[in-house]
Amino acid sequence: MFSYRHAFHAGNHADVLKHTALIAVLRHMTQKDTALNVFDTHAGAGLYRLDGDYAQTSGEAADGYLRLISKQNEAQALLKQAQSATKSVATKKPEAAPLPAALQDYLDIVASFNKGVSHTVYPGSPFIIHSLLQGRDRDRLKLFELHPTDAKTLRANIAQLDAGRLITVHQEDSFEGLKKFLPPPSRRALVLCDPSYELKTDYARVLDMMTDAVKRFATGTYMVWYPIIPRPEAHDLPRRLKTLAVREGRPWLNASLTVKSSKLTTDAEGEVVRPGLPASGVFVINPPHTLKAALKDALGAAAKLLAQDKNQGFEVESGG
Ligand code: SAM
Repeated sequence: MFSYRHAFHAGNHADVLKHTALIAVLRHMTQKDTALNVFDTHAGAGLYRLDGDYAQTSGEAADGYLRLISKQNEAQALLKQAQSATKSVATKKPEAAPLPAALQDYLDIVASFNKGVSHTVYPGSPFIIHSLLQGRDRDRLKLFELHPTDAKTLRANIAQLDAGRLITVHQEDSFEGLKKFLPPPSRRALVLCDPSYELKTDYARVLDMMTDAVKRFATGTYMVWYPIIPRPEAHDLPRRLKTLAVREGRPWLNASLTVKSSKLTTDAEGEVVRPGLPASGVFVINPPHTLKAALKDALGAAAKLLAQDKNQGFEVESGG
């Protein structure tokens, strides 16, 4: 069985990219009242503790969501100081420097799962999606999770939402399981595909799944997250997804966020240090027309705030 557990990685820079893009896509798709079907093909456990053993061991959220929150708090404190200083000399109020809308939306949604000033809970994609579907009774959210432990935790977490028919959990291989749901009756759907790529074969399976899905339902919106690592399969996946979109005549968008160099370094004892995940991307087929501008602004700010060295950066390209 797989050893990947998203609890180690929840709230890291890859989640910042993926969940910011997911929220921006869903904000647009929920503007219409028509029923929407959302498929989360690799759902994970749903909710994560940032003060629990897994997250504390990896410390990845500290360089992702938690870093964004603490920088925002610092900025707000400085703004308050500046405001009280200017009040005392009765001059014009200083302008706040707001974060780009899509990044602020992401921070607000994640923060809404936390009470008060401590940020100990991180919502995974199922809970983020559910928060955006509230009050939309005709929508449906189908969650796939193959790992027995995570599927059990996911079911227990979802049960607390009392979401009725809105959400169903499927403990099955989504690469096969998605097929039976496409095309959806309402002809409006978002598919989020977010594997761990623990198995090298996942890259080819993602491409096969997307090829099949676009054939079955050409107008769906498809969002695939992928790691940017020195491995040929990882490098090829966005190129192959682009070829698929172009061949099928569908618009596409590819966005990436880099926080550090991918080069190996050596520590004081001369041991080789691997950099961990330096960058990741999301490839979207049939993206909302608003997504490119929203992500350019959001990722520009996120790259600066999450930079671990001078190799930080972002790219957003689109076509079709
Ligand atoms: N999408 C989640 C989020 O953003 O919160 C994180 C998902 S995590 C990166 C990937 C998950 O996919 C893991 O929990 C893993 O157990 C599950 N998984 C791996 N292979 C799968 C498959 N073939 N079908 C369904 N789930 C799978």
